[in-house]
Amino acid sequence: MEIAPGIHSIPSVEKRRPGLYPSNVYLLLGPEPVLIDSGLSKEKIVAPRLRYLEEMKVRPRYILITHGHPDHWGGAVEISKATGAKILAHPAEKKPPEGTQPVKDGFKIELGNWTVQAIHTPGHTPGSICYWIPQLGALFTGDSVLGIGTTVIRPKEGDMGQYVSSLQKLLPLPLKVIYPGHGPVVNSPLPKIEELIRHRQERELQVIECLKRGISGPDELVADIYPEVSGRIKKMAREQVMTQLAKLQRDGKVEKKGRKKEEIRYLLIK
Ligand SMILES: [Zn+2]
Repeated sequence: MEIAPGIHSIPSVEKRRPGLYPSNVYLLLGPEPVLIDSGLSKEKIVAPRLRYLEEMKVRPRYILITHGHPDHWGGAVEISKATGAKILAHPAEKKPPEGTQPVKDGFKIELGNWTVQAIHTPGHTPGSICYWIPQLGALFTGDSVLGIGTTVIRPKEGDMGQYVSSLQKLLPLPLKVIYPGHGPVVNSPLPKIEELIRHRQERELQVIECLKRGISGPDELVADIYPEVSGRIKKMAREQVMTQLAKLQRDGKVEKKGRKKEEIRYLLIK
């Protein structure tokens, strides 16, 4: 489906839980067609996308990967084998698809009238990349900015401090539109990025407020900050609190006390 002149979003047949959006795969047309991300590798998801390319008689030269999660680069090998496209991803991402070549900050590809430029935006993962087309004011953000909602920053691979810095790095760009990794196109990109930064900063302040009131165990912090969540969402909420605490520790504002799980407490450094 053509969503802007020369830019297609290759639809997914994926069914996700309500409120969750399948990953977006974008096709940029030009003398050297390019895919941004490749979607999941599952046969029933990747096959219709390959058919889409066949029907359009397009053979992408490159598959530019925004980050190393299976719903973004899972299908890359199949698409690469079928079309000959080279897979490019940031070297900080673990276990890249076979044959992946490294892309670093500042990497550029000329696509006729357009230039695609890689901007390293770590935070969601260490090797997250946004792809910027200055001629269009368009930014392809992967999971660094979503069409709807906020990105999960997990304690293991994510870094809240880096995430906020990466978002701040995007603010000076003359942005007109964001093509996110999930969900709808963002037509007012600047307020969106500012809102995401504000949201994380507010959460950080909430954690600090809790610690000041003596709420210092992970479970109590989650219960206080996210009082209404349960189940799967609660697990995600806990991960967000843990990444905020890890950032505060790195910033030298908080220390962790206790070894056994039930004894762990976080204390503000005065
Ligand atoms: Zn992701």
